[in-house]
Order: sequence, then C-alpha cells, then structure tokens
Amino acid sequence: MAECIFCKIAEKKVPSAIVYEDSSVMVFRSIKPLAPIHLLIIPKRHISSVNEIKEEDKDVILEMFLAAQKTAEKMGVKRSGYKLAVNVEKGGGQEVFHLHMHFLSGWEGEKDIDVPGMP
Ligand code: AMP
Ligand code: ZN
Repeated sequence: MAECIFCKIAEKKVPSAIVYEDSSVMVFRSIKPLAPIHLLIIPKRHISSVNEIKEEDKDVILEMFLAAQKTAEKMGVKRSGYKLAVNVEKGGGQEVFHLHMHFLSGWEGEKDIDVPGMP
C-alpha cells in the first residue's frame, strides 16, 4: 500500500532498526518505546488489522509468532518472558493500520504491566 508507513518499512524505503526478517515477516524497534525492549512484528504484505485477516493469511500469522520466538531467543528473554499485544482498530488503540504485534520485554522483576494503548 503506497501510503502505509509499515509497507514502506517492509520495502526498506523508510529506515528502521531491524532485529529480524525473513521472506514474509519483519521485526523492528518501535520509534517510541514503551518498554525497555519494544519491537513490532509485521507481515511484509499489507493486512490492515486483525479484522481483515483472511483464511489465506494463516501462514503469515504463524510466521509472526515464530518470529516472536526467534526474537525472544535473540534478545535473551525467551525464558524470562515477554508480552505480545495487538491493538485492533481505533477503539483498541491501533494507530498504524498495517497489522503488527507489539513485542514488549526487558523489565526487571516486572511481570504484570499495562498493555500500551489499552484502556
Ligand atoms: P499501534 O498503536 O498499535 O498502532 O502501534 C503503532 C506503533 O508503531 C507504536 O509503537 C509506534 O511507536 C510505532 N511506530 C510508528 N511509526 C513508526 C516508525 N516509523 N518506525 C518505528 N515504529 C513506528
Ligand atoms: Zn502496509
């Protein structure tokens, strides 16, 4: 999608701090971190929100979770833990309308935190 910032990041037309990528997904640092480790996991192809996921997207949705596992390993938090969050539509706190999963971690001794964008 021409005007979508995350499509531009996926195509590397806009720079980002990439932590992991493969042919279908990308993981990069949030520009406004709300946790010591705040990453965004996106499908490279445009899906605007959870509400727009179709049956044929199932492979890329699995890839997003596998990317979360690999990222956790890479960031050294696989065992200590991390939080995955998806904001859905404006009322759910979604500001960028390209599907993304927030990967949040790095707190010391903090296990139960507020999810950004949630009331
Ligand atoms: P949401 O409110 O769930 O739509 O989250 C949007 C996320 O995208 C927030 O964490 C923003 O900080 C992040 N964000 C927006 N623009 C950029 C960008 N150009 N590079 C990296 N992260 C971004
Ligand atoms: Zn997009």
